[in-house]
Amino acid sequence: MRTPILAANWKMHKTLSEAVAFVEAFLPLVEGAEGVDVVLAPPASALDRVGQGLVGSSVKLAAQNVHPEEKGAFTGELSPGMLADLGCAYAIVGHSERRHLFGESDEFVARKAAALLEQDIRPIVCVGETLDEREAERTFEVIETQLTGSLEPVPAERATEVVVAYEPVWAIGTGRTATPELAQEVHAFIRERLAKRFGTDAASIRIQYGGSVKPDNVYDLMAQPDIDGALVGGASLEPESFSRIVRFERPEESA
Ligand code: PEP
Repeated sequence: MRTPILAANWKMHKTLSEAVAFVEAFLPLVEGAEGVDVVLAPPASALDRVGQGLVGSSVKLAAQNVHPEEKGAFTGELSPGMLADLGCAYAIVGHSERRHLFGESDEFVARKAAALLEQDIRPIVCVGETLDEREAERTFEVIETQLTGSLEPVPAERATEVVVAYEPVWAIGTGRTATPELAQEVHAFIRERLAKRFGTDAASIRIQYGGSVKPDNVYDLMAQPDIDGALVGGASLEPESFSRIVRFERPEESA
């Protein structure tokens, strides 16, 4: 049984006061939401205050990035231990913006994932193909390479703590969502590859979909057998919108 996981990735949005105001408005909206894991990933500048705001709630704190070393001359970076100190339960690694804008390799993502687990922080490992790669029919090859490389040092006994996020790059921030069937096809492929690597534990690993998830399309995505949650950018910036995603009701049933 996999607990659905709905995570908000705020990217480089929200000042401290905006982040605090979000938490104050959001928590009452998701009170009583049971059987789901809800995660907020604010910018690093707001981790401390958002974490304080979440104390006493079941909503978990996540970082958007991490450096794999514990300390040293890495100007501007935060270590896994620092994130643990801030109360992070999860951290996103290998987001396509980090891969494409900051040149992060599978090997670097893998080191981050392993270093997070050492601090008992669950990595959300993102993979996804670009539009060119999809049009060249290279989707499965790209996903397999990213997945294998990014999970390489993850010990088998920690596999179920990892969350994989399938985020087709052409769907991120574009308003163009993958159809539920297309997303399911890739999720099933990811689970099959995870089974090759981790055996029966693959059935317990959560695979999120990300890419223009909205209150109106989350229900159909979540209805797919291998879609266990969503990683949400734009539609997670408003408390009302993200709270509707957390409930993933049929569109006509929601307010
Ligand atoms: C993301 O930030 O990972 C993302 C999927 O963004 P959006 O929901 O805006 O497409």
